[in-house]
Amino acid sequence: MTEFEVRNPATAAVIDTVHDHTAEEAAAQVDAAQAAFEQWRTVAPRKRAEILMAAHRGMLDDAERLRDIIVAENGKSQADAAAEVAYAAEFFRWYAEEAVRAPGEYGVAPAGGVRNVVTRHPVGVAVLITPWNFPAAMATRKIAPALAAGCTVLLKPASETPLTALAIAEILQQAGVPEGAVQVAASSSASKVVSAWLADDRVRKLSFTGSTGVGRRLLAQCAERVVNTSMELGGNAPFIVTADADVEAAVEGAMVAKFRNSGQACTAANRFYVHADVAEEFVAAFGRRIEQLKLGDPAAGAAIGPVIHARAAAEIRELIDGAVTQGARIAHQAALPEGEGLDHEAFVAPTLLADVPADADILGQEIFGPVAPVVVYTDEEDMLRRANDAEVGLSSYVYAGNLQHAMQIGEKLEAGMVGVNRGIVSDPSAPFGGVKQAGIGREGGSFGIEEFTEVQYLSVDWSAV
Ligand code: NAP
Repeated sequence: MTEFEVRNPATAAVIDTVHDHTAEEAAAQVDAAQAAFEQWRTVAPRKRAEILMAAHRGMLDDAERLRDIIVAENGKSQADAAAEVAYAAEFFRWYAEEAVRAPGEYGVAPAGGVRNVVTRHPVGVAVLITPWNFPAAMATRKIAPALAAGCTVLLKPASETPLTALAIAEILQQAGVPEGAVQVAASSSASKVVSAWLADDRVRKLSFTGSTGVGRRLLAQCAERVVNTSMELGGNAPFIVTADADVEAAVEGAMVAKFRNSGQACTAANRFYVHADVAEEFVAAFGRRIEQLKLGDPAAGAAIGPVIHARAAAEIRELIDGAVTQGARIAHQAALPEGEGLDHEAFVAPTLLADVPADADILGQEIFGPVAPVVVYTDEEDMLRRANDAEVGLSSYVYAGNLQHAMQIGEKLEAGMVGVNRGIVSDPSAPFGGVKQAGIGREGGSFGIEEFTEVQYLSVDWSAV
């Protein structure tokens, strides 16, 4: 039996080993998932809701242990990990409440006589693939609506963070989810496991969260069997501060939008567009806050941890260097942690880049780290054109004193989500997702469950019955 190691990003120490699933084992999981699906789809929605509610309670009862697992395998701060556990658990409660609302439609065909009866049905066995940056929430945001809809699931967590997914699967089992309905395949070879699943005709759904590049490859793979897909892909969020914005509030929002999870969020503010009238004040206040950030081992309470590994840190440092070469200036930076026992190579100093040229390369890609490039603007139309000049459109942010103006900007932004005078958009009750190459479909809200259903319509003539 082969296993692979899971490491703590803060120290690079091995914290656990997990079973490395083979393609054969993955293929066998489909048999169990299909058998469980035949049963689970017939379980009354109320019963499914009660099990999901028990999973919600189970996660909250186990919140501290889950927080510590996330801190250990992902490296985020304890506060961020605790917030993630609460957010992740909420998907079980939200979809417990949605499970009992199976919407349909009824209508009379315009020609008369015939009735259209529209119902929704679970799509079938669903493959779920999740990234390492939110190992709990990205899993529950998929598992909860899938189970609520009557699907069974096969989950492939990121190889860096399988432990959280395995802990959640246990909680689901204790909550009463039948055997086979939720199976996790940790693997050091994602494509091996996922290809075995996607090759099986009984797998009818893929819900993926991860990078746009891997998303493209999986979409091509799904095209072969026309598998139903939902895609939550990369972001490159603009964060706009207008001339009349409340600068203090904008800095508060920027700290959350940029530094939550050390900047490793698909929704992370990636580019700051600040009006010239407030730019100096914003940069000074934001910079002061950045310089105060304390980096270190999150297990020991540090507010900011490492990024996921030294490789990722090196790429982020290269982006900073590239921006400086193109004319940007490191205006403010937090201190790197000192002391023994840390993997120093995995830490990136939170950095504010000022004087960033509007066409700098760093603005054209997802930084996925604690770096805030600030571009000063005067012409709003030009700024909006630049803000929309990205192949992805996931989240964006606008701070403006005049709400009408903020809403007008919000509607002009090519993004699936806009934080208006807020630095956070994630909410289980709201549709999360992107436009352009940021994805297809939505998670959360009443939309999330629809992704796991198929519409059927019965054309009925009962006039002669
Ligand atoms: P990633 O490299 O795309 O990996 C995501 C998942 O896909 C992991 O489980 C990975 O497994 C798996 N995977 C990789 N190659 C695969 C293949 N050929 N076939 C099947 N599965 C494959 O992304 P990441 O680095 O983990 O996460 C960061 C990205 O996710 C960022 O771009 C971020 O914006 C995006 N993200 C988007 C959202 C959203 O809701 N839109 C939310 C969070 C993150 P391994 O770990 O084994 O490689």
